[in-house]
Order: sequence, then structure tokens, then C-alpha cells
Amino acid sequence: MLDLTYETPKPKVIAGAKHDWELVIGLEVHAQVSSKAKLFSGASTQFGAEPNSNVAFVDAGMPGMLPVINEECVALAVKTGLGLNAEINLKSAFDRKNYFYPDLPQGYQISQLYEPIVGPGEILVDMGPGIARKVRVERIHLEQDAGKSIHDMDPNMSFVDLNRTGVALMEIVSFPDIRGPEEAAAYVVKLRQILRYLGTCDGNMQNGNMRADVNVSVCRAGQYEKFQETGDFGHLGTRCELKNMNSMRFIQLAIDFEARRQIAILEDGGEITQETRLYDADKNETRSMRSKEEAHDYRYFPDPDLLPLEIEQAWVDDIAASLPELPDAKRARFVGDFGLSQYDASVLTAEAENAAYFEQVADGRDGKMAANWVINELFGRLKKDDDKAITDSPVSPAQLGGIIELISSDAISGKIAKDLFEIVYTEGGDPAVIVEERGMKQVTDTGAIEAAVDEIIAANPDQVAKAKENPKLAGWFVGQVMKATGGKANPKAVNQLVAQKLAE
Ligand code: ADP
Ligand code: MG
Repeated sequence: MLDLTYETPKPKVIAGAKHDWELVIGLEVHAQVSSKAKLFSGASTQFGAEPNSNVAFVDAGMPGMLPVINEECVALAVKTGLGLNAEINLKSAFDRKNYFYPDLPQGYQISQLYEPIVGPGEILVDMGPGIARKVRVERIHLEQDAGKSIHDMDPNMSFVDLNRTGVALMEIVSFPDIRGPEEAAAYVVKLRQILRYLGTCDGNMQNGNMRADVNVSVCRAGQYEKFQETGDFGHLGTRCELKNMNSMRFIQLAIDFEARRQIAILEDGGEITQETRLYDADKNETRSMRSKEEAHDYRYFPDPDLLPLEIEQAWVDDIAASLPELPDAKRARFVGDFGLSQYDASVLTAEAENAAYFEQVADGRDGKMAANWVINELFGRLKKDDDKAITDSPVSPAQLGGIIELISSDAISGKIAKDLFEIVYTEGGDPAVIVEERGMKQVTDTGAIEAAVDEIIAANPDQVAKAKENPKLAGWFVGQVMKATGGKANPKAVNQLVAQKLAE
């Protein structure tokens, strides 16, 4: 099904180092489940609500309150697992991860350490048109988000907003299969795309609905192969975790900085301390936040308030049957059915809405032409128009399809089509009617074009003499004729007639 070349991982080698070092990266992505209610309460998950207005008693950690699992969150986690070709665990369980923080009123986070709901899967990360890298996903577990402490509203006080407390997150953990900054960013891009196609997370990174903890280590050339052969993490270097990254650009800059930092320490004879670090975008550097906790620091234990989560295969099968066509399949189909390049197909499938729009335009028409018009004209125009979303496009697929039909039938030239597109974009209307009413039809009547050519030749004897010596100057006559006919003359006919007349 997939028309892709798999690239052997090319490790990023850091220039300027004494030795050959390779990067090893593993990502833990927190994706907010797009459910209306929280993981264990009926409180709303609406973003931007009045602080502390979406808080049920159980979210506030009130004594005696019991969590009740939200079935929708489980279904969306299963759907995500299926979309990543992962194993679904029919039995999973919730554990308490204990720590104290003012934005965590329970005193623990309910998570899934020992038995996650989703097991190993994989993501095909796009590294260029038609080139993919396979990155394995180790697991996905469901867990609660924490609230938000606000330290910058008052000089003497801190505030806490519990609206986020208890919102369902999927933690999607990759194997350390990622070998460079670009690949790490591409992994997040692809994961986000799949989640958005599935509708299980809106992927809004600005709102923090998707954020990544980026684990980075470096090792000497050859060590990674040993790790691959044996699965023994001992062959890899000590990692540092860059916390809460929510921009593709910063992910790359942070990894690059971190790799150089680690290499400098190691080449100086030092050792890497395993720790959690924060990336400072203003200074483009990472700095230590805290030493890395181990699982035992959190005193994990099975949550006694919740039964193990058991789901049925038939239910999983129903969810599987409801999966939409995913990006890789859609892109392959666009290449196969419409004859698009891998690049154009990638652009059009980046978002499901773009792909749906394109398919309506291309339906029964020239696919490549439809792709060109959607990518170059429509996307370009929407971008200029305050970055409008395709769902708000003033030009409907039927209207754009109409313009393409007028070009295909030679009723209008490509140049006039651009004017027509602008009219439809700003004023609306049926393209065929506009062409008729405003006299935009292409002149294919050779008699009329011939008359215009004759006139211009007669008026410019000097230019004619020059053009007879240098045929390249014929273009000037073509331009004049196009001008004289208001751009409506069929360019092919004009070219032919000009060449013919100049040769006489
Ligand atoms: P923790 O929960 O303590 O952060 P995990 O076992 O969940 O530890 O691993 C977290 C992430 O770190 C995973 O994505 C894993 O692939 C990655 N990772 C583990 N070892 C390394 C390493 N040596 N270099 C880079 N990434 C690593
Ligand atoms: Mg982890």
C-alpha cells in the first residue's frame, strides 16, 4: 500500500567534536484527550474557562470522593493505539504516582505505570518526499493532568487554577529510535497529524494540549548498533530529559544545544548526570531543573479506588472499524489515483480538511490541475487573507472546480483564470456566469487574433525588422497582441500567428 523508501537511520554527527558522537533520542509526548469531560469526573475540559470553574469534588481531592472512569477517554486512547498500529491491552490498571505540589490536590496523580492500556506500535516519520523512518512506540498510558500554579499575577501571592486538574492525558512513549533534531521534530509533526486525523487530540501545542519531554543522550559511534542488537540500554549514554517542549523549532534547537553540552563534558573527561532540564528559548540553552526522580521515588502503587480496566475485543473491533483513512494511506492514494507527486500529496494530506477539500475539487476533473490550484492559488490566497482556515474559504470546492473546468475546456486562459479566481474569492458567484457576463471568454477565433497581429505588425516596422533577425523578439509581439485583446486571446494561437506572420 505504501509507496515509501525507508531510510537507514543516519545519525547526526556533531561537527567540531574530537570523536564521532551519535545522538539518541526518545520522546514522551503528553497529548490531551479530546473528551468533553475529565478522566475520572464529569467536570468540563473547556479551554479558557473562568479559573476553578471546571472542578468536581474528586478533582479538588475532597475526602471520600471516588473516581469514576470516563468511557469516552478509554475509547479515544484505544483509537489512538489502533491508529499507531499498536497492541491494545484488554486488561490495564491504574496506579498512584505520589508527589506533593499545590496544583495537585489529591497528593498523587492517577497514571498507568505497570499495565498501560496500549502496548508497542510504530510511527512512520516523514523525512522528505517519499522517505520515511520507522520509530517504535513503546506504550501509551492514560493519566490525569495537574492544575496550574500562577506566580506572576500578584507580588505577594501565588494562585492555583484547578480547571486542568484531572483532564485526561495520553502519554505516548517512544523507544529511543530517534537519531537527530530534525527527526525528533518530524516525529512530533507526524504524531500530531495522526492524532488530529483520529480526532483523539486537537494537537494545539500553544494551549499546551500537546507537549513533549525530550530525552537526549550521546554515545560513541557503534554503540547504538550494539544497543539495537541486544536491547541493552547499557550501551547507550546517560540521558537528560528536556521537559515540556511545545514547539517544533525549539525541540530542534534544544536537542542540538543539549548534544553539544553533553559532548563537551564527556570530551573533557566528565560524566553526564541524569537530570531533568529546561530549555530557555531566549538564551538558547538548557539548564538543570532537578535531578531525575526514579520510579521508586514516587512510591507507585495500584490505585485502590479503581478496579483494573477490562475491555472487550468486540468493543476494540468496533472502534477499529470506525477508524478514518490515515495520512499515509491517504497520501499513497492521492499519488496513485490522481497522479500527484509525493510532495504535493503530502501538502494536501497534512490536514484532513485540506485533503477533503482537494478531493471534492478533483472529483471528475484533472487531479494535477486541481492540486496546483488548491496548493498554489487557494492556499496562497488564504494565507494572505490573515491565514484563514480552509474550512472558512470563501471559494467552495464547487466554485474552484468550476474555474478548472473553464480552463480545461479552453473557455478561459490560465491568466484570465487567476483574475476569475480573485473575483470569485472576493465577490462570490458562479465562475461560468461571471465569465459570460464580464466577457472574459478566451478569443480562439483566429480571424480576430489575426487582425490584431496584422495591426501591430503594420504599426511597428522597426521591431519587425529586428525580429526577423532575432526570432527571440517575437515574444514582444505576442505581448502586444495579448495586451490589445485584454489578455483574452488564446496564447497558443497568438504565438503561432505571430511566428507565421514574421516569417512572411
Ligand atoms: P522515565 O519515565 O523515567 O522518564 P522511561 O523508561 O519512561 O523513563 O523512558 C523515557 C524516555 O526516555 C523513553 O522515550 C525512552 O525511549 C527514552 N530513553 C531511555 N533511555 C534513553 C537514552 N539512553 N537516550 C535517550 N533516550 C532514552
Ligand atoms: Mg516516562
